[in-house]
Formats: sequence, structure tokens, C-alpha cells
Amino acid sequence: MNFRIAIVGAGPAGYFAAQALQNLQSDEHKFAIDMIEKLPTPWGLVRSGVAPDHPKIKTVSKVFEKIATTEGFQLFCNVELGKDVSVEELSSKYDAVVIATGTDKGRKLGIPGEDLRGSLSAAEFVPWYNAHPDYVNVDVPLDTDTAVVIGAGNVAMDVARMLALEPKELDCTDTASHALERLHKSSIRTVHVFARRGPEHVAFTSPELRELPKLEHTDVEIGECDIEDALKRVTSAGEIPKDVKSNLDAMMAIAKTPKKGNERKMNFHFLASPIEIKGKDRVEVVIFAINVIKDGKVVQTSDTYSVKAGLVVSAIGYQAEPIAGIPFKSGIVEHKDGRVGETNMYVVGWAKRGPSGVIGTNKSDAASVMELLITNLESPKDNFDFLTYLRERGVVHVSQGSWEKINAAEVSAGESSGKPRMKFTDRKEMLGFAG
Ligand code: NAP
Repeated sequence: MNFRIAIVGAGPAGYFAAQALQNLQSDEHKFAIDMIEKLPTPWGLVRSGVAPDHPKIKTVSKVFEKIATTEGFQLFCNVELGKDVSVEELSSKYDAVVIATGTDKGRKLGIPGEDLRGSLSAAEFVPWYNAHPDYVNVDVPLDTDTAVVIGAGNVAMDVARMLALEPKELDCTDTASHALERLHKSSIRTVHVFARRGPEHVAFTSPELRELPKLEHTDVEIGECDIEDALKRVTSAGEIPKDVKSNLDAMMAIAKTPKKGNERKMNFHFLASPIEIKGKDRVEVVIFAINVIKDGKVVQTSDTYSVKAGLVVSAIGYQAEPIAGIPFKSGIVEHKDGRVGETNMYVVGWAKRGPSGVIGTNKSDAASVMELLITNLESPKDNFDFLTYLRERGVVHVSQGSWEKINAAEVSAGESSGKPRMKFTDRKEMLGFAG
């Protein structure tokens, strides 16, 4: 039987859901997959999240293109759920709908001064340097010698590297041209990264930490005594989990690496919670409360210290923007094992689990949800042609063929300057390839 499945969101979770359906096809179940994406381009976080100096991670896009060029798959970019088509319409026309829209809103610190100029979320800064069309005009003041990054996860690490790297190192990457130009003129020379807990609790992963001593033009500093204290704490608590040991080893290696005397610095601080951002018209000072670890628990003290900085980027996680017609709870879609209530709607990726895990995590996650989806299929609904639906409503979409033209044009534009691509940021320019 032939079933029509709509997948909303062309990021890693959406593609891995499509791949799982393609792999699960049988004589009993054949799938026509329509992937719907609000941006004019696919690939989600692989395009607008992964740091430009991590090109290897982006090679997963080859897998996405293989999925997209498999029979039965159609791409509909520049089509927005809730604007061009409603959840109810998709749910009634398709045999199943898979929500793979991610979590693109940055969590707030909830402290005074957070809305001052110069205080932004990684959810704005990252898409700014990655050429997301909706974030080109984010106000990123770089006319300051010091930046503060709040959070101890891999996003905080990406943000800190992008601010602390010698911009020449980004010339051969696909960093947005507007961001690269600004980074070249940046006055930032010191980037302080703040973790509210100890080194043993950080959410960085060790491959990312191990990269840091290799930075040629940036000295990375971690206090050796911070790592020694953390080692004492974890050793006294029993066997050290493998990932914690690996992280502590990587941080100790950073601490022991002789500094090169570079002007650019990245400094890590632990056990400090931001409690206030101060400034007249923009960020000037960040106040931190000192935390201590008592009986294995992190406790905030009344002692504080301040750090002068003109830019603060918080990288403390993400939450989903609610979509009309879908139940949301605590920043994610409400579901049971990936199914939304008793409906024909399913959820995968960060919109299902929250913002955790690497790109590959979405593969097994999507596969188990697609298995559940298949078990709930009964008989196929009447044929429905989404292309006609969009044409009747005057919605211009970017098909797989049009996207391939955009892709080729970006790659070719980057070639002369040794970049993997020069990303378009203008929707109109991209839509010029549609049709
Ligand atoms: P994350 O890994 O969950 O880290 C969030 C960090 O923010 C944690 O250190 C957390 O500290 C801290 N935090 C939360 N609320 C805070 C507050 N109010 N004040 C101070 N700190 C606060 O999230 P992420 O960095 O956004 O990354 C999301 C996922 O993407 C992760 O799985 C990450 O590994 C993945 N990712 C991977 C790569 C890569 O592979 N290269 C790159 C980027 C992202 P607590 O632990 O104390 O809560």
C-alpha cells in the first residue's frame, strides 16, 4: 500500500526520519515523502548551526542529498507551517505527519540587564555567523576588548571559538560574509567562558576540548588547580565515569599547555553563576555569584565578583517555538514515544527530546519513532498532491532541483576564494532559482 508522509523540517532529524521510512519500505508499505521547510534551503542545523571551522561535521549533508534524491522523496522549501499550510490540513491530507522543527529559541538567563544592547543568545549569534536569512541584521557589538560566554556546552564552545579565533582562520570557511567582515574588525581579544558548576560537570565533549590547545593564534587558559580540585572530588566519590575522566584529562592538558603569548585569549571559569548584567546603554559589567560544592551539590554563596565586558552571549540551551495545533510542554512537543496523543502526528529530534545530542543521535531516535508510525498505519488516504495545493495558493516553493541550483551557485561562488561555499542570505535571491 502507498502511504503519503509529510515531514516538517529539513534538518538532520527530518532527513533521518525520511531515511528510516525509506529503509522500512516493504511490499506492504511504500512511502511517498514530502519534506516541508520554512527556509528556502534545507539541512537545518548542518547549515545554520554547525560552526564554520568544523567542516567535517557538515559532510553529513551528502547523506541528506542521497535521501533527497531517492525515489518517492519531494522537497518543498520556503513553505511555512501555520502560514502556507496548517497542521490540521497536513494531518487530514497525509497518512502521517512528522514534526522535525527543532528548538530554535534560546533559553533566557532571567537576570536583570539581560535585555541590554550587547547581551544576546547563541540562538541569535550562531545563525548570524552562519548566514541564516532571518539573522543577518542581529546587532552584535564587537567594539569591545572582552566578551563573556555563559554556558559550558558545545554551543558555548563554538561561540567562544568564533569570537576568539584569528579571523584569517575563518577566511577559508563558509562563515557568512557579513559576519566575517565584522569579525575581521572585531576588537575582542579576551573571551571568558563561564560554567556554573565544576569542571567535572561540564557539557563540553572531549574532542571539542582537545582541539583547543591546537589553536595557533589563541591562548586557552584553564586553572590547573580547578582541574586538580575536580579530580579530587570525583575520585573521592568513587569510580570516575569515562566521559568525565576524558573531559578532565583534556582540560588538564589545556591547563598544562605552555602559552604562546598570543594576544587573543580564551579563559575558562568554573563555579560562577551570572546574577546581573550592568550597563548604561549597553553591557558593561557582568556580576557573578561564586558557587561552592558541598556534599556533592553546587551551592550559590553570597560572595560575588564582576567582569568588565562589552558583549555577553548566553549559550544555555534552546526551547521550541510553539506551533498552532500541536501541544507543547516545557519547550518541546508533548508526546508519548514520539506520537502526539492518539493522532497521526509524530515528533522527532530536538522538538521531541529537547536540545541534546549530536547530529547522529537523531538517526536511532527517528528510526524508533518511524517504526511506531508504521505500526499505526491503516489504509492509505485519498491521493493528495501538495504541489497543486501550493500552486493554487500562490506559494512559491524551492524544490530539490531548485535547491541543487542554489547549492551549485553557492559552491561555485566560494571556489575562487578557497571557501567550501558562499552562502546566500537574501531570500529573494534564493527564490530566483525556484521553479
Ligand atoms: P548543553 O550541552 O545542554 O549545555 C548547556 C550549558 O548551559 C550547560 O553547561 C548548563 O549548565 C548551562 N546552563 C544552563 N542554564 C544555565 C544558567 N541559567 N546559567 C548558567 N549556565 C547555564 O547545550 P548546548 O551547548 O546548547 O548544546 C546542545 C546540544 O548540541 C548538545 O548535545 C551538544 O553536545 C550539541 N552540540 C554538539 C556540537 C559538536 O558536536 N561539535 C556542537 C554544538 C552543539 P548545567 O549543566 O549546570 O545545567
